Amino acid sequence: MEIFTRLRGMKDILSEEIEIWKKIESVFIETSELFGFKEIRTPILENKYLFERGIGSNTDIVMKEMYEFKDKKGREVALRPEGTASVVRAYIENRVYSTKKIARFYYYGPMFRYDRPQKGRYRQFYQFGIEIFGGKSPFFDFETIQVLDFSFKKLRIENFVFYINSLGCKTCKKVYIEEIKKYFRERVNNLCEDCRRRIEKNPLRVFDCKNSMCKTELKNIPSILDFLCEECKNHFDVLIELLSKFNINYKIAPHLVRGLDYYTKTVFEVFVEKEDIAIAGGGRYDDLVHDMGGPDIPAVGFAAGIDRIVPLVNQKNIKKIETIYFIILGEKAKIKGLEIIRKMIEEKIGIEIDYEERNLKEHLSIANKLGKKWCIILGENEIEKKVLILKNMEDGSQIELKEDTMIEKIKEIVKC
Ligand code: AMP
Repeated sequence: MEIFTRLRGMKDILSEEIEIWKKIESVFIETSELFGFKEIRTPILENKYLFERGIGSNTDIVMKEMYEFKDKKGREVALRPEGTASVVRAYIENRVYSTKKIARFYYYGPMFRYDRPQKGRYRQFYQFGIEIFGGKSPFFDFETIQVLDFSFKKLRIENFVFYINSLGCKTCKKVYIEEIKKYFRERVNNLCEDCRRRIEKNPLRVFDCKNSMCKTELKNIPSILDFLCEECKNHFDVLIELLSKFNINYKIAPHLVRGLDYYTKTVFEVFVEKEDIAIAGGGRYDDLVHDMGGPDIPAVGFAAGIDRIVPLVNQKNIKKIETIYFIILGEKAKIKGLEIIRKMIEEKIGIEIDYEERNLKEHLSIANKLGKKWCIILGENEIEKKVLILKNMEDGSQIELKEDTMIEKIKEIVKC
């Protein structure tokens, strides 16, 4: 018989790991809510052209990596490859701008990219992201960076650094693009086939190319920071000043362009150099709301890759809910056992139980394998004496607890 396996690039998250996921999610949610962000949930399936328009039709994500298909009515749909395009669509469709001058959203959920799976790169992966609509001040850019910085510090992620760059506005970006087109044309024979095509269509995408020849050609390319207009330069300088003033660990990275077309002015990436991995990326996208049919409203945000953060969080920093292994011995103890369990659950004392008929030795061996610190034993003897036994699995000691005071005693001793 065929045994099903998961699809390539997809993974199961089992209970041993899930506590870390929940911890990361809760830290991001708490930090964002402290900064006044509210959750938004958008569909996972969207019109395919939303992403073409939002992310850019020449990006790798749209050209090569989208999970796209026709639904039963022949509509062209896609599984979302990222969160921003959907949030922008929802912001425009629900006319959020008509009631809120500044709107702050956070989202969390699975994204899908048909990429080549490798360490830290999956076809279904999870992003936590935030978006701020309506603010053009660099202080908003700083706020998005702060949400990440506070969250990563709280999770005790070590050695993370913000790589920062500016892509300028439409005007200065245009001047820079002409400059690098000239630069690449002179070196066209040293570029890969994809990049030769990119030169005319979207030369900034050459910066993301993984081909070593193309990477070599990038070493001496002019820096976009030398082409910024007055306003963009000022925006960048204020942000850098804020990062320095509040001791955010950053490096200016003039080659950082990010793989999505919508960015203007600030772009950043959070990098863990020791692991050689990017755990978050973001930036400003002042034209996207307008380009997607909404009013002229600036915006800034980030997306963090949860799958990549999980291995960086130390298990020791995660508090787990301890459950007590509850042993019922004999048929007659079962109903009394259930009565006590109901009281314990009402009092928020966690239990784990195996209702099958087993002897004490078997039960204790199961509890040991599960790594339980505490067991409760209830047999016919205990019922007659109106007590139950609380056993410490670490040192083997045990005490009898009287039925009428057992809940308080368990709380006191087990500290749950
Ligand atoms: P992006 O949406 O491309 O700006 O990526 C933002 C963050 O999402 C990256 O810094 C990664 O941490 C994470 N990420 C992007 N693509 C993947 C993937 N295929 N698998 C796992 N994480 C990813």
